[in-house]
Amino acid sequence: MKKIIIFSLVLILLLSSGCARTETKRFQAEFLSLFDTVTTIVGYSDSEVHFKEFAEEIRGKIEEYHRLYDIYNDYEGIVNVKTINDNAGIAPVAVDRRIIDMLKFARDEYEATDGTVNVALGAVLRIWHDYRDAGLSDPENAELPPMEALREASRHTDIHDVIIDEEASTVFLKDPQLRLDVGAVAKGYAAEQVASYFEGQGITSLLLSIGGNVRAVGGKLTPDSTGDRRWNIGIQNPDKSSPDAEIMNVLINGISVVSSGIYERYYVVDGKPYHHIIDPATLIPADYFAQVTILCRDSGLGDALSTAVFNMPLEQGRDYINSLEGVEAAWVTKDGAIEYSDGFEAYLKGQHT
Ligand code: ADP
Ligand code: MG
Repeated sequence: MKKIIIFSLVLILLLSSGCARTETKRFQAEFLSLFDTVTTIVGYSDSEVHFKEFAEEIRGKIEEYHRLYDIYNDYEGIVNVKTINDNAGIAPVAVDRRIIDMLKFARDEYEATDGTVNVALGAVLRIWHDYRDAGLSDPENAELPPMEALREASRHTDIHDVIIDEEASTVFLKDPQLRLDVGAVAKGYAAEQVASYFEGQGITSLLLSIGGNVRAVGGKLTPDSTGDRRWNIGIQNPDKSSPDAEIMNVLINGISVVSSGIYERYYVVDGKPYHHIIDPATLIPADYFAQVTILCRDSGLGDALSTAVFNMPLEQGRDYINSLEGVEAAWVTKDGAIEYSDGFEAYLKGQHT
């Protein structure tokens, strides 16, 4: 009896899909409210309505991370990274597992990169943030933060003062003046979690970009004329005066592409631009490159590394990237020259692979 029911069910499904003659098409959705940047979703569906539902589900998941990792805003009923900051030196804060895991990941990356990406740098970053905001709203009077204030703040950036108690699921900032700033890792980490979630749900073809933190699930559903299913990802030209909007294109399947650059957030003081990636060694914007791009599977790692490598001299960064399995990097210097790690060029569009 059971068999017959199953059989007839299969038949009905076959019939209905046969009747509908649905065709899978490629769709794209954009959202502006997440992580203070543009989120783009490219995927496939049999109808726009179904794709919109799917994109909305993805948006909802990213929004949960956005709220948890926010350092500037409170949300009704949500304990987030700002709550941890607000309780610095006061009390451990019970938080969602997604905060614990992200902070543990960030701490591991701090150790692995000689501290060039440090989520405990918030006290220093906040000063730069405030001076940048002031300078952007009143460019005539834009100023640099006093070195003395930066140095004083840098005394409160020891990541070992971020006490993570996994069992109790709490985070405590032992130093009352320490502040977390997860801007260097949060978007990529969230992109990775959300992409892996949908991968686990059986999605085989999806492209997710949170403010340029790109994570591909599989390749394109429909190959191009040469049978290639890889996604073609344009990397923004750090030289905005160039007629070429993109400095290179990479072809990827199931991995991420993450760039950090001087063009994303900056302000101008006395005619000179000051961007938002701060070298913990000097407490001022790192001056080595115009852009660094990382290719690797894990988008959280890509995000952390893009910031870390931006703060390392080329030789140190290249040695480090070449020592990592499955990670490649491209460095664009301020005069527009491009340097690559050992395996990067295989991903460039127009190269033989
Ligand atoms: P974007 O977020 O613009 O793509 P990044 O991933 O490089 O670029 O992150 C930059 C953000 O990370 C800054 O806005 C700031 O909040 C934070 N940040 C800047 N310098 C550092 C650093 N050395 N370590 C950790 N976080 C940093
Ligand atoms: Mg980063």
